[in-house]
Amino acid sequence: MEWLRRILKKQMHAAALDDRSLARVFFTNTLSGSKELFVPLKPGIALIYSCGPTVYNRAHIGNLRAYVFSDTIARVLEAAGYRVRRVINITDVGHLVNDADGGEDKMTVGALREHTTPDALAARYTKLFMDDLVELNIATDDILFPRATGYIKEQIALAKTIEEKGFAYRLPDGLYFDVQKFPGYGKLGGLAHARLEAGARVAVAAGKRSPADFVLWRTARPGDLQQWDSPWGRGNPGWHIECSAMIRALLGQEIDIHTGGEDHIAIHHNNEIAQSEAANGRPFVRYWMHGAFLTMGGDKASKSLGNVVYLSEVIEKGFSPLAVRYFFLQAHYRTPLSFSFEALAGASSALERLWRLANDIAHESKRHSARSEARERFLAAMRDDLATPQALSILWDTLRSEEYAPEEKWGLLEDADAHFGLSLLAPPPLDVSTKDAPEDILKMLAQREASRVSGNFAEADRIRDAILHRGYRVDDGPQGPVLTRASF
Ligand code: AMP
Ligand code: ZN
Repeated sequence: MEWLRRILKKQMHAAALDDRSLARVFFTNTLSGSKELFVPLKPGIALIYSCGPTVYNRAHIGNLRAYVFSDTIARVLEAAGYRVRRVINITDVGHLVNDADGGEDKMTVGALREHTTPDALAARYTKLFMDDLVELNIATDDILFPRATGYIKEQIALAKTIEEKGFAYRLPDGLYFDVQKFPGYGKLGGLAHARLEAGARVAVAAGKRSPADFVLWRTARPGDLQQWDSPWGRGNPGWHIECSAMIRALLGQEIDIHTGGEDHIAIHHNNEIAQSEAANGRPFVRYWMHGAFLTMGGDKASKSLGNVVYLSEVIEKGFSPLAVRYFFLQAHYRTPLSFSFEALAGASSALERLWRLANDIAHESKRHSARSEARERFLAAMRDDLATPQALSILWDTLRSEEYAPEEKWGLLEDADAHFGLSLLAPPPLDVSTKDAPEDILKMLAQREASRVSGNFAEADRIRDAILHRGYRVDDGPQGPVLTRASF
């Protein structure tokens, strides 16, 4: 629990809370289907849980869209004055190939494929996942990442409570949740929708009372690599129970925000609600928020369709990982977004232009910021259900406009950086083609070169400093001096 202690300590250092200073934020709640004012359970604190990856293979950029989405929620709330506690679970047991309890176990499939143990497999893909988050400027130190296998006791205890309260029944292959006993079953996304999905589930286990009933604890099957003792014999937890159990253990019985991709609405999230509300006898989640898919040529990007791209591939092609973040922000989170490398290249060059502009403004404003009405419009857009496309266009319009002082532009950049996570205040070094550099910088560069060649190194150094002061760095390469946009 070292990470939990570390995060709680950090939060205790946060400034004392004054509710009146909290800004109003609106989110679309899948539960009601409409936009609502965010009112957390405890004033000033936002508890956020995001369904995490199943670590039997690499997360693709479709999965990563889901985490940039939840990171943006956290950033908006932090900037609005909330203390945010975040959990992203790591699914390392119990998830079958088919979300509705069918097919092989994903961790077993992965372990056999890679001739390793489920534990080693989980460690490998958890690390790659965390590395991707860091590349995307997601502050992993501020998030708890519990592994489902670390919470087996809690999952058994929760399933036991559900059984004791009369919401479950036993079959030879496991303990099942009886959805007919839970009156609100399917309230997320509309009951008709949930029934439709349930009816479409093909693998109905023998003895199930209703097709939507789902497994809480699965009796060990031959070849299962992960097994524990339980009141229902040896076996492993069903997929849905881990989220309910880890939420209760780490955030409490009722949380503020639960996120996931829209594919989780019908089955996984309705089942989480059923389990938690049956066991706890109180509401589970105040705001359900779902992100739309990243698509590839019209289809959902998904490993099983074989149409996925990984962040490492994007980086290998020479793109900054933050170009991917910029690309995601160009679309609203509730809109499907179609990926192509051409579209990514567009986002990448826009981000690079933004970085150059930010460097210029850092220089002109000397990093002094002033408030402006553009900043208010920017904040209002982000607080209106994360209207990132509008917020981006406010940013561009303001930075390009002559009507704002450099300090006002810098003030907006500070807010934009806090909300977007695009390293706008400290862009990476950017090479400058000599045709892009201002005329007077090129003149200074030529003078410095002349001084250096004639052995007047003191003068060469003085000019180099003067160039640096203008926001450009000079390095002597084998082909002559190289000009780089200095990051401040
Ligand atoms: P999984 O590892 O399949 O459980 O997925 C992890 C997260 O990524 C879940 O929140 C999914 O809903 C989400 N996800 C999966 N595929 C996509 C996609 N193509 N676009 C956006 N989100 C996705
Ligand atoms: Zn979940």
